[in-house]
Amino acid sequence: MTAVVVERLGPPDVMELRDIPVPVAGPGEIRIKVEAVGINFADVLAVAGEYLTRTRVPYTPGMEFAGIVESLGEEVTNVTVGQRVACLGGSGALAKYAVAKAAAVIPVPENFTGAQAAAFPVSYFTAYHGLKTLGRGQPGEWVLVQAAAGALGTASIQLAKALGMQVIAMASTEEKLQLARDLGADVTLLQDDPERVQKVRDAAGGGGVPLILEVVGGPRFQESLDMAAAQGRVIVIGNASREQAHLRPVDLMKRNLTVTGLWLTSLMTDREATAAAAQALTPLVASGQVTPHVGPTYALSDSARAFQDILDRKTTGKVVIEP
Ligand code: NDP
Repeated sequence: MTAVVVERLGPPDVMELRDIPVPVAGPGEIRIKVEAVGINFADVLAVAGEYLTRTRVPYTPGMEFAGIVESLGEEVTNVTVGQRVACLGGSGALAKYAVAKAAAVIPVPENFTGAQAAAFPVSYFTAYHGLKTLGRGQPGEWVLVQAAAGALGTASIQLAKALGMQVIAMASTEEKLQLARDLGADVTLLQDDPERVQKVRDAAGGGGVPLILEVVGGPRFQESLDMAAAQGRVIVIGNASREQAHLRPVDLMKRNLTVTGLWLTSLMTDREATAAAAQALTPLVASGQVTPHVGPTYALSDSARAFQDILDRKTTGKVVIEP
């Protein structure tokens, strides 16, 4: 079968199309005919060798995908052949077929396309944990969403609005801000606006923002602290700038700020938190209040271009590759 293979880490053009054996589902596993792969910033970092965990090569990228169950390994009882499922975790999805643990599949809402299913798990579970599990956001409260037109950003805006919160969205272009407004953002601001710190503080009533979903990092991290309200919560979710951030704990003391890290991979092992997130998301999905914003869609042979477009900040919503 055709698959993307990475033999050495580096920029997106290290990804090559190869013919590799179709994977076999072992006990407790299923083989899926891949319909759509959601591409996360994490995939780009993993190929570059800059992710939180070490990337072992050779490997086939692709951690979040949806497709049709094609065969079952031994001891699988929770899934049937022909069912559409979404999967999260591991790698190997940028291929015609992928194998996943049957216990880790996520049922796909009937109203979702394959691309929407592949765009859902990472962005919406992360958004929920940022806004609620760790962020403890309340209806009526202001939240600042950075990189607001991206996959996580669009999910965060939709979810925050569905949870009754007020959203300040930041992004790098006017076009991206328009998308944020279309999704319900109450206030939008260019990321490079020279008066952004004061404008964000003013938008939230002058005293700063109680909850910030921080994904840019680098020197911008200090700005997030400056934008936060007294007793504000800054949830560190990403480092899209790929630059070092510096934290002076005394800055937290002065205004009683809380900085909390969020990594979905480790939170997924918290069954209670995952179940609570799924329980909260399910009715919002069923009622159409949150629907993944699928961005540009690429063929498998264009995977390197898809990854480069994310790095070049050309994309909005969830980038999808259809093998
Ligand atoms: P996106 O689709 O949001 O794409 C990344 C966005 O980051 C771009 O749209 C761009 O928005 C912004 N960006 C890119 N480069 C830079 C830069 N040099 N400086 C500032 N901003 C930049 O990707 P994802 O939704 O996959 O991820 C968004 C962020 O959230 C990433 O940092 C990712 O690692 C993180 N994340 C973390 C998770 C976790 O478990 N901790 C889970 C999911 C995502 P703009 O042009 O508007 O600035």
